[in-house]
Amino acid sequence: MGSNTSPLTQTWVETPCIRSAALSRAAGCNIYLKLETLQPSGSFKSRGVGHMMSTAILHHGPSKPIHFYTSSGGNAGLACITAANVLKRPATVVVPLSTSALMIQKLKLLGADVVQIGKHWSEADTYLRDELLAKDADGIYVHPFDHKDIWEGHSSMIDEIEVQMRYQGGYDAVVCSVGGGGLFCGIMQGLERNGHLGQNESSRKSTGGVRVLAMETIGADSLNVSVKQGELTRLPAITSIATSLGATQVAEQAFRWSQRPEVVSHTLTDAEAAMACVQFADDERIIVETACGAAVATAYIGTLHSVLFPELSKEEFAGKTVVLIVCGGSNITLQILEKYKEQYGGEKP
Ligand SMILES: *Cc1c(COP(=O)(O)O)cnc(C)c1O
Repeated sequence: MGSNTSPLTQTWVETPCIRSAALSRAAGCNIYLKLETLQPSGSFKSRGVGHMMSTAILHHGPSKPIHFYTSSGGNAGLACITAANVLKRPATVVVPLSTSALMIQKLKLLGADVVQIGKHWSEADTYLRDELLAKDADGIYVHPFDHKDIWEGHSSMIDEIEVQMRYQGGYDAVVCSVGGGGLFCGIMQGLERNGHLGQNESSRKSTGGVRVLAMETIGADSLNVSVKQGELTRLPAITSIATSLGATQVAEQAFRWSQRPEVVSHTLTDAEAAMACVQFADDERIIVETACGAAVATAYIGTLHSVLFPELSKEEFAGKTVVLIVCGGSNITLQILEKYKEQYGGEKP
């Protein structure tokens, strides 16, 4: 293989969308799982980050040198180095000192140039911009969630769901978790492109537009707080264990999408998200981060009926089909799941 790999090289894969008998039973409606855990980086971030990086190579000139920089010690960092390897370009990941040893090891094993600096993400990000990016004419900044190419890449999952659900009678709702809101923006963009967003509240009910449930854990609820305040609001700090949802402020575009009548923003506790990860591992033999557990939990704790379709009877609700975005995440091990079980297993939700 040449060193000049085409930017059109695929950095992400199409994923299955399968019915879960266990989660359907628990939720009381039809639950389908969009398995983004199967992406090469372990999360859906491969879609947006990969698309953004390929697009950057095209615009920069495929034959010119290019160096990618990101300041995420989480799944965006993993997606960046994974795509950089496929595209045969170098990547530097600057992470704060609080980043888990597990993630740093994964980044290094994939060949990322890892720089650990700063107490918080903002300090790592400032160092990246001022000390590295400003001094590299071939440097490209990869934002974890706030970029139109990121949303465009994420939106591809809705195009897939569209085809996959066509022969299952369609779908009535999508559930995703929200950190900075990149995934949510991609989903909304994809739903709009496929004609699923009505013009107003009444058309949602009459045409059966697809509803979207945007989930966050309390303590990482930057979208929910903004929705309640009626304006884009910054959290003073992140206090949830779901660190992949830990953006103190969502992208402005995410707040704008949240104003649509199809969207419901909702929160749950760390305990609920963590125990959903434990239950999901037992039911589906798939392990995910609490960031993903926040979306999966909605099938276990009654949220889909009580929050998303409150106007329906039990029988009417049973006829609904909901797609859960199993967004994945690599910051999870069997040992961490065991700890969740010990810590939260006794709590009544
Ligand atoms: C990044 C991430 C999220 C949140 O995505 P945003 O685009 O930041 O809203 C959720 N789950 C996992 C596993 C993630 O890696």
